[in-house]
Parts: sequence; structure tokens; C-alpha cells
Amino acid sequence: LSLSSHFLPLSLQAKMSRPVQARRLEGVDKNIWVEFVKLATTYSKVNLGQGFPDFPPPDFLKEAFLRALSGENHMLHQYTRGFGHPPLVKILAQFFGKLLGQDLDPMTNVMVTVGAYQALFCCFQAFVDEGDEVIIIEPFFDCYEPMVKMAGGTPVFVPLRPKAPKGGKLMSSADWQLDPAELASKFSKRTKAIVLNSPNNPLGKVFSRGELELIADLCVKHDVLCISDEVYEWLVYDGKEHVRIASLQGMWDRTVTIGSAGKTFSATGWKVGWIVGPTRLMQHLHTVHQNSVYHCATVAQEAVAQGFQRELELYGKPNSYFIQLPKELQQKRDLLVQSLDAAGMKPIVPEGTYFLVADISEFKSDVPDVPNSDEPYDSRFAKWMVKNKGLAAIPLSAFYCGAHKNNYSHFIRFCFAKEEATLKAANDILQKWKREKTSS
Ligand code: PMP
Repeated sequence: LSLSSHFLPLSLQAKMSRPVQARRLEGVDKNIWVEFVKLATTYSKVNLGQGFPDFPPPDFLKEAFLRALSGENHMLHQYTRGFGHPPLVKILAQFFGKLLGQDLDPMTNVMVTVGAYQALFCCFQAFVDEGDEVIIIEPFFDCYEPMVKMAGGTPVFVPLRPKAPKGGKLMSSADWQLDPAELASKFSKRTKAIVLNSPNNPLGKVFSRGELELIADLCVKHDVLCISDEVYEWLVYDGKEHVRIASLQGMWDRTVTIGSAGKTFSATGWKVGWIVGPTRLMQHLHTVHQNSVYHCATVAQEAVAQGFQRELELYGKPNSYFIQLPKELQQKRDLLVQSLDAAGMKPIVPEGTYFLVADISEFKSDVPDVPNSDEPYDSRFAKWMVKNKGLAAIPLSAFYCGAHKNNYSHFIRFCFAKEEATLKAANDILQKWKREKTSS
């Protein structure tokens, strides 16, 4: 305080002048979604930006929620068990125990979270210390980087490298691969964990068993944890197999697997997620959870439990939602692939998820490059597109670290988990745009 401020009234002196922001927030204040969600809300006629379905969840799930809400058990309106509503952790243990070949204890091997997002946050807080390195495969779901940094860790990035497809075929997400030597070079004594996301957002890549074995071998060799984000586990196309890395040799004991009812049952707004893993890892996730969120919404957990109960009974049968949803989404994927290909915005055909990345190189004449701009080209392109064409998408560079953004700045990501009418409206915009380009 300066001398003169002694004479100020206390209410004026109370204005804070020292920094209020904790150091852990430095460099993580920007968030792509805040800006692009606002742009989409303001300008878009067709929103294929953020990843959520514009069709309803299945009737059996909505009915389960209504029963939980208005049924006789009024205790469903109160707190339930902090680490997960008992019926939900029980059915998740049964379901994932079967898939992972493990005998799971619902009370210790499963924890319910506020969406997969909080599951990720718990993992980084529980496992990453100052100075620890965490390997992240690019392109990556953007929150991994700030979450590692907030825990005091250092993200180490390794890109999937695209190979041109042969014979004029469309590129597939399978053409984006890790270079085994490059991946191996990222592991060191400081490596604490690797984040795996298969099926991958934003590319839609489904890692093959061979690729996962390569990662698993390195984890075992260097005694590294694996945080496996499998929220799109059911959204796999063309008969591809989703392999769970926790089921590979030597991996159960060092892997936590994350899931989301939002993606599983097309109900992203419910924000029910979970983590499955060995007790020695789960106990530390419990510590973070009990000292932060503590508790998730009971009614939504009850409804998701009933959804899984149904799916357990129908497992592998044609009317299982986990069979029907990918079938429907594959058709939607194909619609969008056709639209983009016809318009000249070359799609990379995804093997999974509800995202599709497309190459915007042919459209550069409409949105000229600004040399030496800080903003990657695809970001400016996506902003121009939503403002001028009413079509919202997300720039691919948002899924790369700062140093690599400009290497991958001629792609944008579309979400195709949309009603046919929405995809047709996107097609109309794209074909009109192409006609305008060819006539000008
Ligand atoms: N991981 C990935 C790869 C995602 O794409 C998302 C959602 N976009 C999440 C986690 C977060 O899922 P939730 O909505 O269940 O929090």
C-alpha cells in the first residue's frame, strides 16, 4: 500500500491488486469450444461442429429415465453412493468384466464420473506429478493437453502420419499411422503414462490389434500407465473390431479404461461416464473424485444402469442398440462422405466415431491464406465457412499441440451423428458452393 492509500476509505483499499490466477492456469486459458460453439450458435444454419447427435436417445433409455424420475423409489432423488450408484457399478462390472476377461468387483474396479471428461480429469490428477511426461498421440481430443499441464506434467506429442492411398482411392483413417521408431523414441524414464483414444476423435481411426500391441509392449517395457479413452467403443464400422488395450497381455494391471453413456446411448447431455481398472489404480481415482465432485446425478445413473441391463440381455443380437446405432451411423457417414467427395472437399473415411475429417485445399481460393498469421489456416477457414455458408465444422489444427498446428491446417472436422435432413441440408450447402465455384 502506498502512503496515500492509508487515507482511503477501506472499501476502496479492498480492491485486489495481486495476481489472482493460480500458476497452474497459465497457458491453459484458451478453449476452442468456447469460441466455435458461440460461432455456431450465432451463424450456423447447419451445425456439424460439436460432437453430439441431433436425434433422440433410444426410447428404452428415455423410458428408464422417466421411471426413475416418477417411480415409487423417491430415494432416487437423493444422493447415492459417491463412487457410483450401486445398480450402475454392478452392471458395468458385469458388462465390462465379460468384455475384458476379468472378474470385476463393482465396488473397487468401477467408478462413475460426470461424463468421460471428469474421468479424464481424475486420471491426470491421480497419476501425474510435477515433471512427469505423458505421451499424447496427435491428433488428440483437445482437453488432454491442458489437463496434463494442470497436473504439473509435460505432454509429449507423437503424430499419426498420413500415407497417401493407392490407386485414386479416398483416404481412410487407417492410412494415418504411428511410426514405431518415432513412438518408441518418446518413451523415457520420465514417462508416466500414455493416453490412447481408440476409436479416435477427430480422425475416426480405430487402432488395429497390431498397433495396440506395439503400444502395449512399450508400456510394459518402460513400466508406463495407459489411460485408454474408449468413449466411441460401440461406434465402429465396416465390420471392424474394437480392441480394448486392457485386454492385451500385461496391460490390465496398468490400464484404466474410460467410457461415456453420452456416446454409448446418444445422450451427451446426461454426463454419465465411468472408469474401469485394477484396484491399485482405481483407489487413487477415488481419492480425486471424493475430494472434488464426490457424487454424480442419481436418476441419470439409474437410467443408464437399466440401459446396460437391456444391452446385456441383447448382447450381440440384431436389436441391441450397440448393433443398431453403428449400422445407422455408418449410413450417415456414407452420406456425408458422398456429399464431401462430390463437392471436392476430400473426406478421410473414418473407421469409427461420429466424426469425419475433410481436406479443404480445393477451397483455398475462396478463403485466401494470410501469410505469417498466428491463426492456423483451417481455423480461419472454419470461421469464414460458418459466417458465409452457414455450415459449422471444427478446424483439425485444434487437435494438435501449438508446435504442430501449422503442419495440419488444411483439414476440418465434421460430426455426422445427425438426422438425415441435417446431412441433406449440409449437402445442399456444399453442392451450391461447388456450383458457385465452378461458374465463377
Ligand atoms: N473423450 C473423447 C475422445 C470425446 O470425444 C469426448 C466428448 N466429445 C469425451 C471424452 C467427453 O465425454 P463426456 O461427454 O462423456 O464427458
